[in-house]
Amino acid sequence: MGQNFFKRDDRDVQFVLKEQLNVAQLLECDAYKDFTTEDFDMILSQAMKIAANDVAPTFQDGDREGCHFEKGKVTVPKSFHQAWKVYKEGSWFGLGLNPEYGGQGAPVLITEVAMEFFQSANFPFMCFTGMGPGNGGMIENYGTQKLKDLFVQKMYDGTWGGGMCLTEPAVGSDAHMVSAKAIPDGEYYRISGTKIFITSGEHDLTENIIHLVIARIEGAPPGAKGVSLFVVPKIRVNDDGSLGEPNDVACIGIEHKMGLNGSATCAMNFGENGNCRGYLVGEPGMGLAYMFQMVNLARMAVGLESVAFASNIYANCLAYAKERIQGTPYGTKDGRRVRIVEHTDIRRMLMNIKALAEGMRALVYKAYLMEDFSKAHSDPEERKKAHERLELFTPLVKAYCSDRIYEIGRDGIQILGGYGFTKEYPIEQYARDCKILSIWDGTNYVQAVDLIGRKLKMSGGRAFQGWVDEVTEFIASTGQANDTLKEEMALLSEALQAVLGVVAKYDAYKKEGRIDLVPLTATRFLDCVAEVAVAHLLLEQAVIAQRKLASPANEGDKSFYEGKLETVRYYVKNFLPQVFGRVRIISLEDTSAVLIKEESL
Ligand SMILES: Cc1cc2nc3c(=O)[nH]c(=O)nc-3n(C[C@H](O)[C@H](O)[C@H](O)COP(=O)(O)OP(=O)(O)OC[C@H]3O[C@@H](n4cnc5c(N)ncnc54)[C@H](O)[C@@H]3O)c2cc1C
Repeated sequence: MGQNFFKRDDRDVQFVLKEQLNVAQLLECDAYKDFTTEDFDMILSQAMKIAANDVAPTFQDGDREGCHFEKGKVTVPKSFHQAWKVYKEGSWFGLGLNPEYGGQGAPVLITEVAMEFFQSANFPFMCFTGMGPGNGGMIENYGTQKLKDLFVQKMYDGTWGGGMCLTEPAVGSDAHMVSAKAIPDGEYYRISGTKIFITSGEHDLTENIIHLVIARIEGAPPGAKGVSLFVVPKIRVNDDGSLGEPNDVACIGIEHKMGLNGSATCAMNFGENGNCRGYLVGEPGMGLAYMFQMVNLARMAVGLESVAFASNIYANCLAYAKERIQGTPYGTKDGRRVRIVEHTDIRRMLMNIKALAEGMRALVYKAYLMEDFSKAHSDPEERKKAHERLELFTPLVKAYCSDRIYEIGRDGIQILGGYGFTKEYPIEQYARDCKILSIWDGTNYVQAVDLIGRKLKMSGGRAFQGWVDEVTEFIASTGQANDTLKEEMALLSEALQAVLGVVAKYDAYKKEGRIDLVPLTATRFLDCVAEVAVAHLLLEQAVIAQRKLASPANEGDKSFYEGKLETVRYYVKNFLPQVFGRVRIISLEDTSAVLIKEESL
């Protein structure tokens, strides 16, 4: 096995869960009433232990040994088998899933925090663990009772894996254009077509893999309305649950990638011999709508994965910076060499990582709390509001976090200097592994367009306005009375107004027929909204830290809260003001990217 680089802790996790979000309030939801806060603590401390001791040692194997393809079979790194066994024995697959099918029914927020620890330990390994429960959830929500009885339990306990099969050689972002076919054949459909880039499409961790395949029923209308969803097992499953014959599902190769080498990215042929059976899920023509339920979960997961990477990158960089002796401090002449953590520029980069990691965590956890409330709050109006906030935040979580984690990887490597560029340290692997996050589950441009085209106007603009009101109210009630954070609150207020100015511009573009200005500015706009959202949540944390500093329980708490105040200040003064530059760029309405002729590009 490779080296164990798991150095992160859970101090900020505990702070956000308990002191900012008051996770105990989840116990008031009927669905979670059988849990206690001690249960939450126990789940998370166990997850941390297994992540650190059993999963993290497999991190380098994923990259160095990688996955191998031979004669239709994919083998995963050897150490993944042992990690899978431990993960399965601990029932981690079903932590947040329906107890009726063997899950444990834990809140989404607690489940996802546990996943954050495992993802810090070895994300490519977690790509295998996530697919079975994800696909099982879709079957549970939309499948017939027969499909649920046949598949769900074994997908929730790690007996069977899953593959989510949407992408085709000529169809990526244009998901509604899929060409895979489904021909009715009695109780089943005969599935045929090629899917590419399928995560965990084939591997040797489980005896069966239950694919969800997007395909077009013969004669269906073109476009999204003609797309349906099918359950397609690798090995057929008999009515008594035992395994039957192979189902004409073939892996024809795996991709060789810049990162995520421990995760098998497979090209799949369905029905090469005309003998691939699929079961329709739900109604014909609803495939994309159903799939979007899973895609939305995956978009949230991208944010969490970014937080998971950032936390361990930070811990590794900090440990290195505290040991490495190099250079003399700027402006000194006594020739004294210091640890690099004493250099201002290294501190700048460490603070970039720390502030972004904590800011992204605040955003992601808040969104997961909203997901819990949207499902389980006793008040239907609160459920609706929580759902709207989750919808509004999802593109921010997906795109803002995944673009930032690539920058974090860059800073992390830079902190370590030449060693950062070597495979002796884990940062370069994180930096390569994380790039996929801005691409899959809808590229980040798709998120920006979703924010502007759908989310701003969702529920007649109520979701967006509700968020604006909350930030405004926070500044008015908490900010103005807070002398220490006056400057930071003023920056938040100014940035919010700048964002609202762009929203007004988008309305004007629509009226004036200048809608083509939207794609030119969409990505920048998403970052502006995300920075205001993150700054708001971090300033909430700063106010809590100020209060706690009046009588900290011990020295550890004192330095944590002092650090929190400086970190929030750093974010608000070093990241949030980027809003002003971006809004200025947007207001210039520069169209040179469109006007330049293709032959001049
Ligand atoms: C490692 C890995 C794992 C994956 N796992 C899965 C999986 O499990 N299941 C699955 O189905 N797929 C999977 N994918 C596929 C992934 O979801 C697609 O790569 C992604 O949807 C983008 O599609 P594409 O690669 O065809 O890029 P394209 O859609 O060709 O996009 C190329 C560029 O053009 C831009 N673009 C596209 N359309 C527009 C537009 N209308 N306006 C402006 N810009 C546009 C995009 O934003 C992007 O920058 C995986 C991919 C990788 C690399």
